[in-house]
Amino acid sequence: MLKTWFAIPLWQRVIGALVLGIIVGFAWGPGAESIKIIGDVFIAFIKMLVVPLIFFSLVAGVAAIGDLRKLGNVGWRALLLFVVTGQIAVWLGLGLGTVFQPGIGLDTSAIEMGPVPDPAPTTWREMVLGMVPQSPVQVMADVNVLPLIIFSLLIGIGILMAKEDGAPAQRIFDSGAVVMQKVTIVVMELTPFGVFALMAWVAGTLGVPALLALGQLVALVYGGCLLLILLMYAGIVKFLARLPVVDFFRGIVDAMAVAYSTASSNATLPVTMRCVERNLGVSRSVTSFTTSLGATINMDGTAMYLGLATLFGAQIFGVDLSTGDYVTIAVLATVGSIGAAGIPGAGLIMMAAIFTAVEVPLETIAFVAGVDRIMDMMRTATNVTGDATVATTVGVMTGEIDTAEMVSADDV
Ligand code: ASP
Repeated sequence: MLKTWFAIPLWQRVIGALVLGIIVGFAWGPGAESIKIIGDVFIAFIKMLVVPLIFFSLVAGVAAIGDLRKLGNVGWRALLLFVVTGQIAVWLGLGLGTVFQPGIGLDTSAIEMGPVPDPAPTTWREMVLGMVPQSPVQVMADVNVLPLIIFSLLIGIGILMAKEDGAPAQRIFDSGAVVMQKVTIVVMELTPFGVFALMAWVAGTLGVPALLALGQLVALVYGGCLLLILLMYAGIVKFLARLPVVDFFRGIVDAMAVAYSTASSNATLPVTMRCVERNLGVSRSVTSFTTSLGATINMDGTAMYLGLATLFGAQIFGVDLSTGDYVTIAVLATVGSIGAAGIPGAGLIMMAAIFTAVEVPLETIAFVAGVDRIMDMMRTATNVTGDATVATTVGVMTGEIDTAEMVSADDV
């Protein structure tokens, strides 16, 4: 029985749970609230991961920049492309959420609210002081994300400055990041149960309008990811790398397919490397450096999703966001996508971190968790395409590509 259960790929179990949850929710009505506790347990486990995952992955990510120096030209070009594409992605998510307003008009009064996150500081003095991690332990205990991020960045910088003396610390954080990824994979095994309960609750208490709102969110995430792939990445390949776009996509289609089905940039990494090196002709050193750093810190699909999902949460619960909040979301979505590990559900974990900062009710997580996997697949395919785009473009810029190796449309 257990064997059969685990023999089914997780994503299929999750989709099955989603459909079953909706059916049970409709049949049961508001009574389905009684099984929401299963979903709450799932979300509590997700929240458990926020602090250690951000701390270890962000420190490890910053410390990994040390290798950039060794790679000189390649490193800085890759980093610049990661940053620019990431910013375009975040603001695209915020733009889509503002224009299409997927969460507006949904009556969520039937949802029993848990404690509202603490009000954000109002004066700029409080804001600045609030970002300083005065007591790192307190910051972690309060799951206070902004100061936690600053603390993690500082530790990463300290490791870089300590050079050889910092190497053992770097190894501890590298290994901690891997351990936390494994813990996340274990927690993600709870997803089918959480999704089942949460979808039954959403469908039972809020009915069809809730499903329509979620449907709009999913459609927007797919639309946004397609825009990133077909406009941004294709544009970079055509105008910056000056390579044939169709051949590029033909070369990485395997990686995109594996990313879509596994929802994990890390699990896809060997395929991404193989596609970029063998099919696109990028040198081994540029490929391995850029794609592995990219799988850790370059997640444009995730960045876009985090911006969009935060606006969705604000819309369904009627939270007014100021211009300052938009900037906070953009900053946190950027750092969140850097801190997110390349594993299934990482975006969902980062969402918990952003919501607290802009006072969007954490119930939003329960609301979207049911459909997260479907969106995770698409944003992972986008993330991996982004890594391949940057690797190829940097390969061209530094002359580390042999275009004769590129699989052309005529070879296939
Ligand atoms: N699953 C994504 C990835 O591996 C991260 C996320 O959850 O957005 O790239």
